Amino acid sequence: MMTDMFGQTRLKVNLHLHTTDSDGHKTPEEAAAIYREAGYDIIAVTDHWKYRESGMIGGLRILSGAEYNIGGGNGAEGVFHILALGCDREPCIDRDVLAQDIIDGINRCGGLAVLAHPAWSLNTAEQTCALEGIGATEIYNTVSDAGESSRPYSGDFVDSSACRGRLYPLIADDDTHYYNGEDETTSYIMLACGPEASDTELLEAIRRKDFYATQGPELHLFREGNRITVKCSPADRISFFSNAVWAKGRCVRGSSLTESSCEVQPWETFIRAEVTAADGRKAWSNTIDLRQQTE
Ligand SMILES: [Zn+2]
Ligand SMILES: [Zn+2]
Repeated sequence: MMTDMFGQTRLKVNLHLHTTDSDGHKTPEEAAAIYREAGYDIIAVTDHWKYRESGMIGGLRILSGAEYNIGGGNGAEGVFHILALGCDREPCIDRDVLAQDIIDGINRCGGLAVLAHPAWSLNTAEQTCALEGIGATEIYNTVSDAGESSRPYSGDFVDSSACRGRLYPLIADDDTHYYNGEDETTSYIMLACGPEASDTELLEAIRRKDFYATQGPELHLFREGNRITVKCSPADRISFFSNAVWAKGRCVRGSSLTESSCEVQPWETFIRAEVTAADGRKAWSNTIDLRQQTE
């Protein structure tokens, strides 16, 4: 738990990891100990096709989770990995179903269906816009840049989806498998909730986009009329992303930057921001929907 620059209590949360219950290299008890010692407040244990209920492991709070994956290893044929988070019971999903069936099953159990690592899966906005009920997507997945893969960042997918009106909450998580110093305790969300928040309240805060995704830097994005402002911990780069492929002042480089702002055009429909600290660690805001009028 920490207090952000505006006095808001935030929980440090990793929503995606594997254990020896599927293809992870640590037991649930070992994984919980690693995350507790790294200052996390909550983790979701999301083993493949193995549902774990909410509870406690070794003093660390566990949010119920599982990962349901279909499509094998050929991106040309449609690969979908979908996290079930915060379900109130096991979704009990068959293995020979479609992505939409998985999402429906998760939503029927009150859970949040999260599209995992769309860049790694080679998901396209056209594919996922045909699906209803996706509650969030990963913008960054640590293990996709550890081990045998190098597609951790899903920003292009996120922006293409937003161009089509799908402004998913944007999560960063580890998807920990190896616990080898590269894929654990790296990417997480800072969720604006108190420690007493129920599972339902945690999911509501994610759906409201009441968090930022990060590897360490703090990041806040605001709208005042047509002006969009980022406030952050000291950074070497602050970038804005929208449906404008080019607009003035959307990337500022320097040292110890703690604020940047830009004017949005009347035809822009969404905007989000990223910051990069001097040590290379990043943070990602959620999208602001510019189609909504401000008073
Ligand atoms: Zn996966
Ligand atoms: Zn996974």
